[in-house]
Amino acid sequence: MGLRPGGHEPVARIECRGGKRWAWLYRIDLAKPKLPMTLAKEAALDKAMAARQTCGTCRRRYFHCLPLKTLGSCLECYDGTPADPASYIAPPAKHLLAA
Ligand SMILES: [Zn+2]
Repeated sequence: MGLRPGGHEPVARIECRGGKRWAWLYRIDLAKPKLPMTLAKEAALDKAMAARQTCGTCRRRYFHCLPLKTLGSCLECYDGTPADPASYIAPPAKHLLAA
């Protein structure tokens, strides 16, 4: 229902299969809307975005999605088209040393 307990105790417990599966029931009128995107969710989303924005060759992370499915890298790695330095974040030094 897009709700979460509003800090109050559950009012009942529903049981299925002889109590093996159960869930607390809360009063809807005391419930609060689910929290907006948490930091954890944001981090997960950022990770997913990073995968689509990071060049597998030079490890730069661009501010736009890369044609990774077709090129597998950014344009600069693919055909030498210089990338605007303002369009990416240089990879951390550890990535360069890892090679
Ligand atoms: Zn690249």
